[in-house]
Amino acid sequence: MTSPGPASQNLPPDQVFDWLDVEAEKRAEAGLVRKLRIRQAQEAELDLAGNDYLGLARDKRVAGAAAAAALRWGAGSTGSRLVTGTTEVHAELEHELARFCGAQAALVFSSGFTANLGAVTALSGADSAIVTDKYIHASLIEGCRLSRSDIAAVAHSAPGAIKHALSTRRKPRALVVTDSVFSVDGDIAPLEELAGVCREHGASLLVDDAHGFGVLGEGGRGAVHAAGLSGAPDVVTTITLSKSLGAQGGAVLGPRRVIKHLVDTARSFIFDTALAPASAAAALAALSALKAEPELATKVTEAAGNLAMQLKAAGFRVGLPDAAVISIQAPSPDAAVAWASSCADQGVRVGCFRPPSVPDGISRLRLTARADLTEADVDRAVAVITAAAPPGATS
Ligand code: PMP
Repeated sequence: MTSPGPASQNLPPDQVFDWLDVEAEKRAEAGLVRKLRIRQAQEAELDLAGNDYLGLARDKRVAGAAAAAALRWGAGSTGSRLVTGTTEVHAELEHELARFCGAQAALVFSSGFTANLGAVTALSGADSAIVTDKYIHASLIEGCRLSRSDIAAVAHSAPGAIKHALSTRRKPRALVVTDSVFSVDGDIAPLEELAGVCREHGASLLVDDAHGFGVLGEGGRGAVHAAGLSGAPDVVTTITLSKSLGAQGGAVLGPRRVIKHLVDTARSFIFDTALAPASAAAALAALSALKAEPELATKVTEAAGNLAMQLKAAGFRVGLPDAAVISIQAPSPDAAVAWASSCADQGVRVGCFRPPSVPDGISRLRLTARADLTEADVDRAVAVITAAAPPGATS
């Protein structure tokens, strides 16, 4: 007689999801319950949590372009890019993004997440090795998992470890994947060195410039452009349209044959409804604004430097930021949540990152600077963060 297996535990319909309650209880015990907070349209809050680095999300030129495109093309894109979803706005945006960054070509996706999924999976496969920095963004990690490649996630910001993994790989093709600006601590990857390592080992390099585009490099052309790699034949860049450009969507930039390959094979491009024309038009208008006011990029890094210096002077352990992201360590996940929530009560919204969203298990407040932050904003933020700080947050 065979013993009854799991299939015999036939639960009634009202109990099949009972396991979710058990999981929820475990998360509650670990202080890991996430809350959705509804943002008001006209908030008096000082926002140091969003990614609207250049302050363009509410810019009238940008929001106005979205409204006009929605009226002309409709609220949605109506289909996949390969069927009905490509409008002249998408084509123009791709042309302008490629020109601005110095890439041969660009391809717009419905988000940065789907751009990363598409690029990683299409540029790797069962005959490939992928070597990544272990702190890459979740969307890149998901792309690696879907790719069926051999994956080596090596020490953070360690070109030597990448070199070692490349030289000991068992697959002929290799792709190195990194963020340019790491989204939790805001530090930047040694892109030139990584490109050198890739070239020594016949590997291609994929850089997620989500937090570098619009902030770093000449006029905000991004970290890949700043490293002199944007037109390189072996480098592919991904960006999001939802941070510096204040819109929504993502893009891949790179050699023309890579873009052609993505159109033919990237599943998150082919089987996804295209980016809404309104979002494409908003991104295009934001790109024009950035071209007209290149100083926006410098303003955001200056504001970040100013904020970090004042936080350091107040006793917090913060480094000087490489881009727009600043993080402050909190003593525990609960302390981080309480700290962020008490800042919000005082009208200063800061990000709160804690396990499992952070790879190193360290809870933090995460602040993002914006080009339009005034000195008075910075003073107010530092005063509120200091007053709300838990014991042990300063040195
Ligand atoms: N890459 C990085 C580094 C990010 O921070 C994000 C957004 N959190 C993404 C990709 C995903 O971009 P999107 O929000 O446009 O999907």
